[in-house]
Amino acid sequence: MIGVLLFMAGLWALGAAFGTPRRSRFLAMAVLWGLAGVALAALSAGQPLRRILGDDVRVWAALTVLAALGLGYAWLLTRLKARAVTDQPKTATTGTFAPAELDRYARHILLREIGGPGQKALKNARVLVIGAGGLGSPALLYLAAAGVGCIGIMDADVVDASNLQRQIIHKDKGIGLAKVQSARDAILALNPYVTVRPYQRRFDADTATVLQDYDLVLDGSDNFDTRYLVNKMAAQAGVPLISAAITQWEGQISLYDPAHGTPCYECIFPDRPAPGLVPTCAEAGVAAPLPGVIGAMMAMEAVKHITQAGLTLRGRLLIHDALYAETRVIEITQRSDCPVCGVGH
Ligand SMILES: [Zn+2]
Repeated sequence: MIGVLLFMAGLWALGAAFGTPRRSRFLAMAVLWGLAGVALAALSAGQPLRRILGDDVRVWAALTVLAALGLGYAWLLTRLKARAVTDQPKTATTGTFAPAELDRYARHILLREIGGPGQKALKNARVLVIGAGGLGSPALLYLAAAGVGCIGIMDADVVDASNLQRQIIHKDKGIGLAKVQSARDAILALNPYVTVRPYQRRFDADTATVLQDYDLVLDGSDNFDTRYLVNKMAAQAGVPLISAAITQWEGQISLYDPAHGTPCYECIFPDRPAPGLVPTCAEAGVAAPLPGVIGAMMAMEAVKHITQAGLTLRGRLLIHDALYAETRVIEITQRSDCPVCGVGH
């Protein structure tokens, strides 16, 4: 029997060397194996050929069943992968998945709430992240890992040694580099199948026009001026906003989409603190993993929003107190007198 298998392996290799198509080689193997089986069954005991073939038709039958099971399993896998590609959402217009991408996103495609259509929606999504700092670091890495096809990064700063305690997208050897450059390198090292658009500038009234090129914006900036302006500009452009903020041990996050009935950031926080009243992370400090927790939540909410999975933080504010390991979620509503999204705006 081993002799037959070796002969078949040799023939397979010879076929491969001569460029014979896999299908023809499979057919030849099947015919050979079938002939061996017929010979085993037909020849009487003691015949030399029968001894060469293994002398026992039951071993032949057992190997045949094993091979059939293996081939059937491989065929099923191929079918499932093919279905994941063809099950595209109605909105999908561009891009198809390379085989390596299917392997990469297999654990996503397995999820009932994401599946092939959700993964396709992620690939077609364009997400802008304001700030490649503490919150932006995990948010950007997870958006890239999740397969968000187009990721914009806006940040004017360069990497400083004091950033590395929590801004994990940057590396020690990147100190002095523009943050957008450092973040872009890290993203493409993680997932070369996504497109990164770096904007090395502050978010202001002029640069806000870039919002029109995106389906969703994540704000992880570290100051109130930017946070209020991003909220206002996103509301005007009708782009949904996932905005988060952290200080010391506490963070909060929500999804603001006033174009679709949810409050905006200013509905919830109408009184802008006087400059210098609320200390920044640089002044008050921040626990290293806290931006990791809240920034990963930003990416999670983005994935859910894009794939329409589950219940997002639309109309709800999540507050996480890391020092006492407590999380609260409160309902929030639009304010009719909101200067950004209220009546008359
Ligand atoms: Zn509002």
